[in-house]
Amino acid sequence: MEDREEIVLEAGVRHDFIDELQNVPGGERVRDCIQCGTCSGSCPVSFFMDNTPRKLLAMIRAGMRDQVLESNSLWFCTSCYMCTLRCPRQIAVTDIIYALKRTAIREGRTGGAAKAAALASAFTDVVDRRGRNYEPELLTRYYLKTNPAAMLGKTGLGIRLFMRGRFPLSGERIRGIDEIRAIIAKANEIGGL
Ligand code: SF4
Repeated sequence: MEDREEIVLEAGVRHDFIDELQNVPGGERVRDCIQCGTCSGSCPVSFFMDNTPRKLLAMIRAGMRDQVLESNSLWFCTSCYMCTLRCPRQIAVTDIIYALKRTAIREGRTGGAAKAAALASAFTDVVDRRGRNYEPELLTRYYLKTNPAAMLGKTGLGIRLFMRGRFPLSGERIRGIDEIRAIIAKANEIGGL
């Protein structure tokens, strides 16, 4: 997909886009990218992305804000951190992708990845409430955001999991939940673009 040609008009470019990344820890290092492609070569799912990590970095520097935020690459990222680990310029590619995801959700620009965005949003809500994941609540929130009717079709699966003790009816909340919430609030504050 990376060889797809696209004409970008100057009027559609946001040269200050890269400045928005200054709020992301390590975001200032995007300017240091040498386009070596190590991140793309290390990424296990770049094959599925419309823009590989290397190209995404180039697009950020070129000010292609709309194209970056609407790229499916943000939603294929599995958070394996191989790109970040191997980048010779110590660019936190995964963290930058996370920041872009949060912006795409906030601006309602998730496009064909609306379900992935709903799952990410539901997960954050559950962790914010409990300090840890709790699958029954995660699935309930996810289906309420996407397709409430589909939840009924999962009843049989839920009963079978419950019978095997894999579907607890009440989830736990960790001690020190306020501290987790403070961390999440701070991450939202500094991590948003
Ligand atoms: Fe840029 Fe680092 Fe990716 Fe190389 S590995 S293209 S320097 S982000």
